[in-house]
Amino acid sequence: GVAYMDGQYLPMSEAKISVLDWGFLHSDATYDTVHVWEGRFFRLDLHLDRFWGGMQRLRMKIPYSREQVTDILHNCVALSGHKSAYVEMICTRGGSPTFSRDPRQSENRFIAFAVPFGSVANKEQLERGLHVSVSEIVRISPKSVDPEVKNYHWLDLVKGLFDAYDAGGETALVLDENGNIAEGPGFNVFVVKDGGLRTPAFGVLPGITRRSVFDLAAEINLKAVAEDVSRSDLSGADEVFITSTAGGIMPVTKVDGTPISDGSVGPVTRRLMDHYWKKHSDPAWS
Ligand code: PMP
Repeated sequence: GVAYMDGQYLPMSEAKISVLDWGFLHSDATYDTVHVWEGRFFRLDLHLDRFWGGMQRLRMKIPYSREQVTDILHNCVALSGHKSAYVEMICTRGGSPTFSRDPRQSENRFIAFAVPFGSVANKEQLERGLHVSVSEIVRISPKSVDPEVKNYHWLDLVKGLFDAYDAGGETALVLDENGNIAEGPGFNVFVVKDGGLRTPAFGVLPGITRRSVFDLAAEINLKAVAEDVSRSDLSGADEVFITSTAGGIMPVTKVDGTPISDGSVGPVTRRLMDHYWKKHSDPAWS
């Protein structure tokens, strides 16, 4: 892979930040990840919108325009030589030359990189569906760390993952403050009931893939809403799937050891997966 920092393009192994950077010391950073498929960026504008929105909410500034960042991301991909890649853009609080504890004294830092694509779910999991466990862990609250800003606050999600592994699951879902389903380590979740789609509304990252599912649902006349999803909505769903840039739409066929419906990948999920991948070669979605 290839990284960009401080005005230079570097091999990934040479891209290093100071241990005094607040991104490292305090998770004081935001980032976004875009997928490049066969040389084509997928929904880059939406990722740039979210990245700029995050920097604004965290009161960070970088000395680059959207156009400059777009060029940098394209250059990282071109220099990496990969046709399919994950491209990440990061803004950290940075640090202050005088070690000031006042974040206003810090010089915010922009870093970008492109690495080869590797899906979060393997082929076998995509065919049979993932096995998910619900953890009792509560995701960061909108009252503390804004979960709508893409962030590196993952201690809750990682704890959820270990809970899931201990319970025999492959990945985890964690809860919101009211005990409803929130999201998982790097993905949003949807339930399908009576042909309609539902995904948690609040306290989660507004995923770009989640947004794509709403757009696809509108195109193929499926009802889709953002509303609370309780634990029983999840276990009683006709179908369940999770969404992320890193994996697209991924079927879930078991929750807490119990099969969803008959335990096979459902027709609505299949249809959405199929449409989603077709959109990767649709210029209107680039
Ligand atoms: N929730 C969290 C906590 C995430 O980190 C991510 C992806 N990084 C998502 C949801 C999915 O978002 P997207 O579809 O934009 O990748």
